Amino acid sequence: EKERLSLLRDVIATTRDGRQVFLRANIGLISDVDVAIRHGAQGVGLYRTEFLYMTHSGFPDRDQQYQLYKQVVEKFAGMPVTIRTLDIGGDKSLPYFRQPQENNPFMGWRSIRISLDYPDIFQVQLEAILMAATAGPLRLLFPMISNLNEIRSCKELIRQAAQQLEQEGIPYQEHIKIGAMIEIPAAIHLAPHLAKEVDFFALGTNDLIQYLLAADRSNPRVQNHYDPLHPAVLQSIDRLVSVARSEGTELCLCGEMATDPACLLALIGLGIRDFSLSAPYIPQLKNIINQLDSSAAEAIMRQALELGDSSDIRHLLDSHLEY
Ligand code: PEP
Ligand code: MG
Repeated sequence: EKERLSLLRDVIATTRDGRQVFLRANIGLISDVDVAIRHGAQGVGLYRTEFLYMTHSGFPDRDQQYQLYKQVVEKFAGMPVTIRTLDIGGDKSLPYFRQPQENNPFMGWRSIRISLDYPDIFQVQLEAILMAATAGPLRLLFPMISNLNEIRSCKELIRQAAQQLEQEGIPYQEHIKIGAMIEIPAAIHLAPHLAKEVDFFALGTNDLIQYLLAADRSNPRVQNHYDPLHPAVLQSIDRLVSVARSEGTELCLCGEMATDPACLLALIGLGIRDFSLSAPYIPQLKNIINQLDSSAAEAIMRQALELGDSSDIRHLLDSHLEY
């Protein structure tokens, strides 16, 4: 098994008709880094920094964050590392930060909304990220973006972080790629405008599906409503891909849905060429992608996008997955 892994590690995922597909890792803990490298990840598409915050007894200071981010960037030796700013709330909380009881936490005060309400705490993270960006190709990602004001405020805070570091005479890199998570349905509609503000999109299907279909991702009772192949999900992704193409905005999908072979076929057919996922899935995805034909997948999806029922879509996709 170990041998098979190392054989596959240096193989680049390429469809039969020669389209290269990037496979990157979602990471949370520093221990995920070696796992990602061992499985041949082409960098990090999503570094969930909330785990760093969750493992401290208070907000980690700038240097603690810098040391960790720098270590991740260095270990990936020139491959891009996408660091997402703190994404708490919903189902994740910090023991040292009091969040109010809410009736609908997933639709409440979470993620970028908290960060922008506490700019002092947020700026510490941005400073640490700008410092770590001196160590290699680091990309900065903002979660739960639902309007343009948020992304503009984030960019203003980056400028302030840079100014602070400048004043302290600390080395930093201000010119880094910045991106928005596309995980709220409104962001799909807003994508042409967001594209003018950011360098890349990170499509978060875990949240996008739950918000599109009003089905809590963590509630097993509504699991059958949480349906990645629902026509509305596929149409949303289709729309985002076409905006990304026409605006020249990079797009990486970082939700779990890519780990389902039928969904993977659908996503390749919709034109996604960049995935980030839990690294142990990478060899499996490579095997599937290497057997796919991207133009055949595109033809299947033109058909699938006409269908109104997700079980018909799954049936269609499955019928093309039998080798
Ligand atoms: C997502 O929402 O799809 C995502 C990748 O982020 P998270 O799972 O951390 O919410
Ligand atoms: Mg999310």
